[in-house]
Amino acid sequence: MKKFTADYIYTLEGEPLRNAVIVTDNAGKILSIHKLNDTETDVQRLQGAIVPGFINAHCHLELSYLHQQIPQGEGLVSFIKQVIALRNSDVNEQIKAAKIADKTMYKNGIVAVGDISNTNVTANIKAKSKIKYHTFVEILGMDGNKAAQIFENALTLKAQFATPASVVPHAPYSVSAQLFNQINTYCLTQPNLISIHNQESEQENLLYQNKTGHFLDLYQTLGINIDSFEAQNKTSLATVLPLLSSHQKKILVHNTFTTTNDIALAKQIANQIYWCFCPNANLYIENQLPQISQFLDNNFNFTLGTDSLASNHSLCLLTEIRTLLNHNPQLTFAQVLPWCTINGARLFGFEDTLGSIKVGKTPGLNLITNFNDGAITPQSEVIKLI
Ligand SMILES: [Zn+2]
Repeated sequence: MKKFTADYIYTLEGEPLRNAVIVTDNAGKILSIHKLNDTETDVQRLQGAIVPGFINAHCHLELSYLHQQIPQGEGLVSFIKQVIALRNSDVNEQIKAAKIADKTMYKNGIVAVGDISNTNVTANIKAKSKIKYHTFVEILGMDGNKAAQIFENALTLKAQFATPASVVPHAPYSVSAQLFNQINTYCLTQPNLISIHNQESEQENLLYQNKTGHFLDLYQTLGINIDSFEAQNKTSLATVLPLLSSHQKKILVHNTFTTTNDIALAKQIANQIYWCFCPNANLYIENQLPQISQFLDNNFNFTLGTDSLASNHSLCLLTEIRTLLNHNPQLTFAQVLPWCTINGARLFGFEDTLGSIKVGKTPGLNLITNFNDGAITPQSEVIKLI
């Protein structure tokens, strides 16, 4: 049995607690939360805030080997070209880097991850990990004639993962209408949580609005014929949102160039949408952040992700919170904490065990150090307690 108390305890089940004790069994299951009694023994008295284990809603574990390989600030199209060029590295190196990244996330207090896979490289790591994963088997292909085969291959890949998994589209600029259809048909008959990279670059909107921008150059470089692609006179999200299954929850990742009109459209299905922000990856690739304030107050669900080590310096949600708060002084720690705890747990269907500090759950406990009057400081660190 273990007992912890700290200056603040954010249970995510109500207001932050002060002068309270959390009792867990040795496996981390919450046995009791009660008022601190001065005579109580064996209590670890900690300075800072105790919060539930973090949930990373967007990562690509299999790209961990690209850490510090791609220069910053060159934009998404350049980034994609470099990922493609570097993708055929030694598989053993990929596995080695992914294993280290998995362990680092755990040490950084992350207990669950929504992780994109295009290959089976990480299947074993995720099966053995102390972290709970949802695998997004991601597919792409602009040639509609190949959609059925691409989808069949995805099902074969999905079967290789022991984690919960779903088959998802990569991004509006990389998936044909036929491939969206394949996914939607599949979504009619079973749970298939949808994830899609959304408006990570302004170039994505230019492509959809008037068939201009850097993506044309990417298609040319890759030898992809897009003669049949027509400008839609609207943003990529306005075009693609109706193509996503109405039967499933959807995580929209990045949203850096999402417009107020897009947000108004998404509001009509607000209960299905989980916006996922990856601020450090956005700064790394595009040196731009989403306009967070325009998403707020719309009954939306928000989550946070690290994206991969190809576009981030670390896989740490406290670091993502810090960046978000530094650039959005109107936000508070208490406001953002649910984004990387309970909201992620609900998104992945892990809320029975994770996401909040509640008797019966095994959420993991993190200590945020150097916590001052309800706020993190530049010196704050995350320490995994259990
Ligand atoms: Zn991503």
